[in-house]
Amino acid sequence: MGMGSKIHQNTHSTATPVVTDAASDCPRRAERHPAASAATSPGITDAFKSSQCDFSIAYYPWLFVTLGVMKSQPSSLVDTFDRRIRYLRLSVTDRCDFRCQYCMTEEMRFLPRKAVLSAEEIIRLATLFVDLGVQKIRLTGGEPLVRPDIVDIAQGLSNIEGLNELVMTTNGSQLPTLAKPLVDAGVSRINVSLDTLCEDQFAELSRTGDLKKVLAGLDAAIDAGFERIRLNTVLLTGKNDTQIEPLIDYALDKGIDIAFIEEMPMGHITQTNRELSLVPSAQVLETIRRRFNLVPIVGSSTDGPARRYSVEGTSTEVGVISPITDNFCDACNRLRITPDGRLVLCLGHENSLDLRQMLRSDMDSSSLKRAIVAALAYKPERHVFDQPDEPQVVRLMNATGG
Ligand code: SAM
Ligand code: SF4
Repeated sequence: MGMGSKIHQNTHSTATPVVTDAASDCPRRAERHPAASAATSPGITDAFKSSQCDFSIAYYPWLFVTLGVMKSQPSSLVDTFDRRIRYLRLSVTDRCDFRCQYCMTEEMRFLPRKAVLSAEEIIRLATLFVDLGVQKIRLTGGEPLVRPDIVDIAQGLSNIEGLNELVMTTNGSQLPTLAKPLVDAGVSRINVSLDTLCEDQFAELSRTGDLKKVLAGLDAAIDAGFERIRLNTVLLTGKNDTQIEPLIDYALDKGIDIAFIEEMPMGHITQTNRELSLVPSAQVLETIRRRFNLVPIVGSSTDGPARRYSVEGTSTEVGVISPITDNFCDACNRLRITPDGRLVLCLGHENSLDLRQMLRSDMDSSSLKRAIVAALAYKPERHVFDQPDEPQVVRLMNATGG
């Protein structure tokens, strides 16, 4: 590793009145839900405070010692809290055709194209991780489908021997043309983000998105034959929190799954006040249980953090992902790669290892693998999204991939 390499570091909702936006037929709640105030919502600290997490490898000589001691055979990916890494989330671009309010700011500056990993670099890196024990890869972004070479990337990844699962998270807008090529290239399951079925609300929340295209994309995905399709929904109080039931009905009607995600304080955004917008998962589950019996599902070792339930009598699964109200870090099984090739050890911390620099040097595969294994020593025990006094990350969600 060169000296320049860096390790950078419930409740009932009925108490709240439902009002109708004059500009649309989409109902929205007038006030935040009381349970949201009960949950701790973090504030965003400034870049300086957060940058305290960054540190150069030059100040951590023991990492060199670790690299030396591990000699030629890098071991598998187990961190200092005995968590085995089996799941890699690969963000292939920070660009996107949408500007979702909770994810991006209205005016965005993206990485220069030369800074973004090429298809070959992505496939080489992924192969190293599979050698080290990764069994599942998720392609994400930004919007992975805005990359012109995304189908080639998917094909290259699914050719990696030992990879069991290749999946993707997308906003769905390009699925009308890309769903079938992605299935043919080996993408087995797909998550499609969908926050509302109201066109006006969708346009407002995504800023530049078109609901019709996403719904057409979902139909194309169903026709294309993915093994499973899941909707990802981020609920925001006063914006789309009346959409739980319409979205469940849609998922049931289409025979697909749905997961409701609590908003995470990733980066500084202006249009929503994260501290006021949280819709706790307990509230979501209570709303759903008023109409349906939910049967808990036991997950596998490559699953994500969703608590999953089957809707009794249907093929639909409902999940809740609760980073704020129910920490799941003790079961963390994943690492992330950013579009510019940084290995991010935890979504909720800034520390990362610059793998692009190593890839673009003459470093051989064994040395790269040793560097990856050594970086695991820096994987934090947990995120601190639920601890407002702790430094929060300044990068926006699109920079890492959700
Ligand atoms: N563009 C794709 C999409 O929207 O599905 C993939 C990338 S997006 C960053 C991945 C997931 O992260 C999406 O389901 C999105 O809703 C979610 N997401 C983005 N910002 C978030 C935030 N601040 N808190 C929680 N989830 C967020
Ligand atoms: Fe784009 Fe996905 Fe972020 Fe929305 S959530 S702005 S679709 S990357």
